[in-house]
Amino acid sequence: RDRNCDLDSPKGLLYKQPGITLGRCDVVAVTPWSAPIVWEETFDPVLVDAIYKPKNLTIATTVFAIGKYIRFLRDFLETAEKHFMVDFKVHYHIFTDQLQDVPAVDLAAGRKIFVHQVPKLKRWQDISASRMQMIQTIIEEQLYREADYIYCQDVDAKFHFRWGAETLDRLVGQIHPWFYDLGRDQFTYERRPESTAYIPPGEGDFYYIGAMFGGRVEEVYKLVKSCHENLEADKANGIEAAWQEESHLNWYLLYNKPSKILSPEYLWDDLRGKANVMKVVRLSHILKNYAEVREN
Ligand code: UDP
Ligand code: MN
Repeated sequence: RDRNCDLDSPKGLLYKQPGITLGRCDVVAVTPWSAPIVWEETFDPVLVDAIYKPKNLTIATTVFAIGKYIRFLRDFLETAEKHFMVDFKVHYHIFTDQLQDVPAVDLAAGRKIFVHQVPKLKRWQDISASRMQMIQTIIEEQLYREADYIYCQDVDAKFHFRWGAETLDRLVGQIHPWFYDLGRDQFTYERRPESTAYIPPGEGDFYYIGAMFGGRVEEVYKLVKSCHENLEADKANGIEAAWQEESHLNWYLLYNKPSKILSPEYLWDDLRGKANVMKVVRLSHILKNYAEVREN
């Protein structure tokens, strides 16, 4: 089977006729550059699966569990087995400094865990930001050959509901749950022109969260390479962007528009409680004691 991912739909599958005037009226489901914003009830999961499952895709996901964050890995993996790309070939790429503590989790057929040993850096900011470089390297060494799509996720999160093939696209960004209802001038973009992540006032689409981005392997490669180079350029100039790699990700996705955007359903924050636009929570960042998990 070839690795061509152009859409082709199954014959004879019966599903609800697409509407022109009806649908979700409480949320926007398309950007000004015509990319979908994915919300519950804007797609038919049976149809989506019927389109994508025959393509025999391999979906890689990267997850870092360094230092105390290893404690989040079991829940992440166990809940991913229940809700993340169910019935697809998923390759979990786990980056950790504690190989012996990676939990043994039962995986469905066709799903695999790859463990990569990485050093533990001292500052949490550096651990988080170094993901860009490590993802770049794993794509070069392995994923170009082995995966069609790659989704890069935080480990301190749990799946609760379908997180499926409706998320697949060329370049995918995730709206941050704390900023989806704010104006662009309240976004915590990097505001110092000296940084390569600088975004001037008056510009900006969404505030994207650093905890989830993805898409086709070759597109994510361009993203992580650019963010890594800009992180290095800033370091050479003695400046660190306000939110490290998240600031650089926001710069990249402003000037390289994503082809699909995930609503906050795809990464909510348990601290925010329940919001009216949220018909489901698919994945949520769990509550954690920042001071405790980040101390060495
Ligand atoms: N991380 C890690 N060990 C650390 C700090 C961070 O493994 O000591 C990884 C982990 O995958 C985590 C991600 O980097 O989910 C982002 O850090 P964090 O979750 O603390 O950022 P936040 O979501 O709170 O902004
Ligand atoms: Mn996190």
